[in-house]
Amino acid sequence: MRQKIVAGNWKMNNDLEAGKKLALEVLEKSTGSEKAQIVLGAPFIHLTTVVEALGGKNGIEIAAQNCSDKESGAYTGEISASMVKSTGTNYVILGHSERREYFNESAALLASKVDIALANGLTPIFCCGEPLEIREAGSMYDYVKQQLTESLFHLSAEDFAKLSIAYEPIWAIGTGKTASSEQAQEMHAELRAHLATKFGQEAADACPILYGGSCKPGNAKELFAQEDVDGGLIGGASLNADDFLAIVNSF
Ligand code: PGA
Repeated sequence: MRQKIVAGNWKMNNDLEAGKKLALEVLEKSTGSEKAQIVLGAPFIHLTTVVEALGGKNGIEIAAQNCSDKESGAYTGEISASMVKSTGTNYVILGHSERREYFNESAALLASKVDIALANGLTPIFCCGEPLEIREAGSMYDYVKQQLTESLFHLSAEDFAKLSIAYEPIWAIGTGKTASSEQAQEMHAELRAHLATKFGQEAADACPILYGGSCKPGNAKELFAQEDVDGGLIGGASLNADDFLAIVNSF
């Protein structure tokens, strides 16, 4: 059975105190026996504090929302994968559409980030997803498959086995407009079949594919009931511990 994962993506929200409070609230209201792995995607400067506050309790894991494609050196303002790992953080969200769009992250750059994250023992949650015009033109499957080809198909089978994928249609992020469970299922099945062409059916079957984009307590159950939807990457609703845990408990 594939691992289920529900990851919060706090984005650029909450100062340190508020982030710590939110993390502690998630800890307090979780039981440790949730069916899905809980991951909290916090801003860089929150990582140490949040890792310390949760301290491996209830199996909750922490994610960074990005890392540099460089190992170390004269890259002012950058944060390396090894720095992230040294805080006790085990996951990193890579290739979010906001990074691609606002920070010009290319497929090639993301391939390097995936490599360096894996080399430093971080588990990437690799994001992909199409803009509205591509969905409307009907070419979304090819578009998203290409994102996977360009940034992941250079990986060894061993490295591929370590990562998760999050499908996030851009038109559904923060818009309140969720993909229907059928649309999510169809895309996830297409992506899994595509991964199988490169890594084999068994490896593709083992890869968690999360859905993201206006996932809420009210729609999570139906989304997570789909055969190829293995959890969620949750933005807005992850800023409220009750909503986030209601989503986690939709499995
Ligand atoms: P949303 O964001 O849940 O607020 O739509 C999801 C994401 O961007 O990861």
